[in-house]
Amino acid sequence: MAFAMHCPHCKCGNVDPFEVMARGHVDWMHCSGCARHFYFLIAECKACEEESTFAWQGAPLPSEMKALRCRACGLPVELLDEPTFSDRLGRG
Ligand SMILES: [Zn+2]
Ligand SMILES: [Zn+2]
Repeated sequence: MAFAMHCPHCKCGNVDPFEVMARGHVDWMHCSGCARHFYFLIAECKACEEESTFAWQGAPLPSEMKALRCRACGLPVELLDEPTFSDRLGRG
């Protein structure tokens, strides 16, 4: 199933055509609508096994990621140990 990721800038939907978005990893992509980049995360809920998608205009803070809740059941989503950032982000 391909994901539609809604751009936080212009709200248009971006589909991952390759279905390669990693779960539990923060990554970024260019919006096909406004060409700006945004950060996103796909996390699987351990309670209901639904996958929720989150998107930010800028790199999310660790505190923001800890506060994420499943879109389906509302329970906190369980991230992989420490959320990892894509190497492409070049942290710092
Ligand atoms: Zn956009
Ligand atoms: Zn859930």
